[in-house]
Amino acid sequence: MSGIYIHIPFCKSKCSYCDFYSIANSKKLTDFMPALLKEIEVRKECLTDKNIETIYFGGGTPSQLYIQDIEIILNQIYTHFQIKADAEISFEANPDDLNINYLRALKNLGVNRLSIGLQSLNDDMLRFLRRRHTADDAISSVENADKCGFKNISADLIYGIPRLSEKMWQETLHKTLKLPIQHLSAYHLEIEENTLMYRQLKENKFQVIDEELSFTQYCDLLEISSTYNINQYEISNFSKLGYQSKHNSAYWSRIEYLGFGPSAHSYYQNKRAFNVSDLDLYCKQIKKSQPHYETETLSVLDHINEAIMLSLRTVDGININDFEKDFGSTQTEKLKSSLKTINQSNYKLENAYVRLTNKGMFVSDSIIKKLFI
Ligand code: SF4
Repeated sequence: MSGIYIHIPFCKSKCSYCDFYSIANSKKLTDFMPALLKEIEVRKECLTDKNIETIYFGGGTPSQLYIQDIEIILNQIYTHFQIKADAEISFEANPDDLNINYLRALKNLGVNRLSIGLQSLNDDMLRFLRRRHTADDAISSVENADKCGFKNISADLIYGIPRLSEKMWQETLHKTLKLPIQHLSAYHLEIEENTLMYRQLKENKFQVIDEELSFTQYCDLLEISSTYNINQYEISNFSKLGYQSKHNSAYWSRIEYLGFGPSAHSYYQNKRAFNVSDLDLYCKQIKKSQPHYETETLSVLDHINEAIMLSLRTVDGININDFEKDFGSTQTEKLKSSLKTINQSNYKLENAYVRLTNKGMFVSDSIIKKLFI
């Protein structure tokens, strides 16, 4: 099995925290579409296994696409790959784009999983994040999606936002989890360079949230989501039983996927490939049949470190016996001795599984770096 990702690089405007590649100029859609369709065709041979189990429209804002264009993209994918009859077809959408007609048309095209960018259900927070919707818009979008027959809906939330109190966060969590959703992705805010929020921080317009409050919000997330039977399966991902994202789970299991569109990444034939993060250059190179991506061949050490990183981000953790089977006893001994340098409150070793504790998950990046071989 393999997966397909399509990066739609358009947004109506830029949210203050966002460093994903996107532009606020939908006129470029006329250049983008032929380039994307050609990329889908010319890279079809890259995958070892052309049986596709997941298709994921991400961005940017896929819901900025016209329905006709989504249909053309899907047709191109169906023409060049074998798509399983029960493939998961996910589509990221912003609440302000999801009117009933658009939702019905998406459903008719075969989209069977929606990932809706709520981010918060507090209007002050939404303004601070420069989102284009209100809390009421966000709630209506999920309710309408459910009414239109979507029974696999994911909501995205952000916590750790400056001035987000514990009470505000708990309210957002309860309101979100009462909606007809089956999956939740909740991310701690990262203030990245080259964002409006980073510049505002440098100008002392706000202060970052206190570390202790951040951790409290993470613990609230774990506790409150579980009371709605939406349980954590990866650091930032939670679902009802049977509703884990197949597409993301495939990434974490290092299954091959092809990413189309500017800035999309791919993994195939032991390589990672990175498309240029520049729409004009992407279109120009594809038109001239010149390379529009760079590749990096993975070494054994890259595989080991990816396995450590991706496994520890999941609640399943690392199975030491499987690790030894895959990478040998020398690497396993190295991993075990690195584990001894980690504070014991951050991980548990049970029945051959190494798993991060809640505290460990919260600071997972620094722990994982210490375990790299
Ligand atoms: S957060 Fe999403 S909607 Fe906002 S600018 Fe980034 S990609 Fe666009």
